[in-house]
Parts: sequence; C-alpha cells; structure tokens
Amino acid sequence: METHFSKEQLKDKDNISSEKIFRKCVHCGFCNATCPTYQLLGDELDGPRGRIYLIKDMLENNKPANEKIVKHIDRCLSCYSCMTTCPSGVNYMHLIDHGRSHIEKTYKRPFNERFIRNFLSKILPKPTNFKIIIILAQFVKPFRFFFPKKVREMINFMPGKFPKKTLPNMNVHPAKNKKKPVARVALLTGCVQKVIAPQINEATIRLLNRHNIEVVVPKGINCCGSLNHHLGKSDLADQTFRKNISIWYNEYLKNGLDAIISNTSGCGTTLKDYGFIFRSDEDLKKKAKKISELTRDITEYLDENVKLNFIKNKENTKDHKIAYHSACSMQHAQKIHDVPMNLIKKTGNKVFDIPEGHLCCGSAGTYNLLQSDIAKKLLENKISNIEKIKPQFIATGNIGCITQIANGTKIPILHTVEIIDWYTGGPKPEVLRKL
Ligand code: SF4
Ligand code: SF4
Repeated sequence: METHFSKEQLKDKDNISSEKIFRKCVHCGFCNATCPTYQLLGDELDGPRGRIYLIKDMLENNKPANEKIVKHIDRCLSCYSCMTTCPSGVNYMHLIDHGRSHIEKTYKRPFNERFIRNFLSKILPKPTNFKIIIILAQFVKPFRFFFPKKVREMINFMPGKFPKKTLPNMNVHPAKNKKKPVARVALLTGCVQKVIAPQINEATIRLLNRHNIEVVVPKGINCCGSLNHHLGKSDLADQTFRKNISIWYNEYLKNGLDAIISNTSGCGTTLKDYGFIFRSDEDLKKKAKKISELTRDITEYLDENVKLNFIKNKENTKDHKIAYHSACSMQHAQKIHDVPMNLIKKTGNKVFDIPEGHLCCGSAGTYNLLQSDIAKKLLENKISNIEKIKPQFIATGNIGCITQIANGTKIPILHTVEIIDWYTGGPKPEVLRKL
C-alpha cells in the first residue's frame, strides 16, 4: 500500500511504525474472510482492510476522527483473526492501537459514551473499586429496567456473589521444597479475574508450588494496562505499564525471576507487547523488552519447563468430553493453540476443537459491554458451535471468554489450568462439582 506521510509526520514514533505496517498491506482482502464483524455486517468498513484505510486516512491527513470512523473502529473486536489470515504479515494489532489512541485524542464522544468508557476505565482495573461496584449492583439489580440499555447490561454482567478464596494473599508462595525450588516465577494475578474468579490464580499457584516452583505476586501490580490501552486511553495505560515494568524489573534484578506468568491470554498479549510499546523510550526500552521476553502464558510455561506429575484418584476419571475454546488473544495474538489442548489431552480426557473456532465469542475485553448487539450474535454462534460437540464441559485460557460463554450456556466452563491442577493432585474445580 502506498503511503504519503510527510517528513514532519515521520518524526513521530507511532507514525514511523504504522507507515511500515501500511506498506506491507497489498489490499488483497483475504483478512475479510475471517473477520467476525465483516462476516456479520457485510460492510467493507467493518472488515480489517476497510479499517486499515480509515486509520491510514486519519493519520496521513492529520484528520480528526469523526462519527463514521469511530463507529467502524469501535466495532473491531481486536480479535486479530485477520492477522492469522493475512499473507503479508500486516501487524493489524499495532495499527488499531494507534487508531484508537488517535480517536481518543481527536474525537469528543457523546456524553453517555464518554461516561460509560470513563467509568469502565476507572473501575475495572482497580479491584477495590470493582468490588464496591459489584456490591452496589446487587442493590440496584431489581430496578435495572429503569436504567438505559448499556447500564442495564453492565448490571446483568455483575456476579451475584464473590467466590470463596482458599489461598491467603501472600507476596511469596513457597515451592514444595522451600529450600530448593527449581524455579522462581512472578504471577500476574490481574484485576477483574482476581475478584470474580480467584480459583484460577489459586489453581496456578498450587500447581506451580506442587511442582516445586516458587511463585511471587509483587505488591502494587493489578491490571496489566490492556483495558485502558484498548479503550484508546494511552495516558492511563502508560502509567500502569510503567509501574508494572519497574516493579517486575526490580524483582528480576533483586531476587531473580525465571518467568512472568500470565493466566489470562488478553493480559499476556499486552505484556508480550511492552517491548514494542516502549521501543523508543530510552529509560524503559531495555526493561520493557526484558519483561516481554520473560512473559509466558501458564500453558506455555508448563509445556516448556515442567514435567507434570499426573495423579489418579477417585474424582478425576478420564471419560470427559471437553470442548476447547481457543481465546482470540491466545490463538491469534500469541499464536498458542495446540499447547493448551495437548496439555489437557495428557489428563487422558478427550479434547475437541470447536467448529469455526477461529471466530471470537464476543467477549473482547469490554466489547460485550460497549457493543452488546454484535457481541450477543457472536456468542449465539459460539454456543451453537459448542453444542455441536456435546461436551461435558468447556476449557479456555481467558477470563473474558469464561464470563461471556458462561452467560450463554449451562455447560460448565473453566480455565485450562484448573483442569491441570485437578489432575495433578489439586481439588476438583467447583464448577464441575455436579458432574
Ligand atoms: S481484529 Fe478481528 S474484528 Fe478487528 S478487523 Fe481484525 S478480524 Fe476483524
Ligand atoms: S490480508 Fe493482509 S495484505 Fe491482504 S488486505 Fe488484509 S491486511 Fe492487507
């Protein structure tokens, strides 16, 4: 694709990177074939190629975003299915991030939208704020029909109760053999996940400790920053990124870290991108690159480093049929698909890919709250494809997908790490108690 950035524009680091990406695009449109929004809406501007043109036009012409551009960019799920399909290696992720940040700087959204986006940006990344909102939501739930549609849907998404925690909050979870751990890793416990599904972090910690790995949860790290990053709120995301990089890097220098573990593929994707985000920052680029290099999805880490010790007991029979939902951030962004499935297969159960598994379930961070009509349609399609397998339960590696899919089916859904923990001596996951 020809580009027309001026010399002045090419002094900006983001323009430099985006220009290189635009030049790789050959307009072939293959990406449209696997784009969920293009498939649903059939509009060129709701596909990757159309969005690339919209972003290019804004950036090259120093054009402020307008209602039409915002509509089509907002409808993008950031699922990166287009990146898996693209034969030219176009990094659409970096383009859409740049586009969103430009929109946030140049476009004033209507009051309601601004209010909801600011609300999400302030509440979700902070576990204490989020807990308060969950409690308040219980009081207003009976009156939700009086609220505007978007608020009503947010209230519907709030969990009815806080799941019980079974592990104490500690900064260091010692390995089984405290004196001789085989490795030391940091765990990103996250923001939303640790409030609504603490069992995922607990299974991760138990499993690693049991395999003689020390797990550190450094104080001060909650959100990875991706929530604000994807809302285009670059300044807020930047603050979180900087804080996280400095805390993890200090821990790495002072006490040593073999890896930084993410058990939410959306967050893992952003952590692996810290190096790119700070590529031009003289103070942080080396540290950010190191953090990205250290980051592993929990399944990746287990596969590369741990000889899993599977244990037989009365509760973990091997006759389950499991549907594996490959989260977009896992399969398209991090290119991890077979590894989690193969780990689950080691438990002796049967694991199946979901038909049309490359398509998003509609979760996509805050997408199911901000673009609920499209998200609902994608969820319906996902559930119908899952039902074709007739599984006893569903496994996946991303809390957003777990929440979204659980809203559309009674088939239990859980995190891959909960299954591995269960089959290596951990408790049977709560969600499967009735199986
Ligand atoms: S990220 Fe997903 S929704 Fe967005 S353009 Fe690519 S395939 Fe389509
Ligand atoms: S598939 Fe790749 S090269 Fe072809 S239009 Fe899409 S982004 Fe451009």
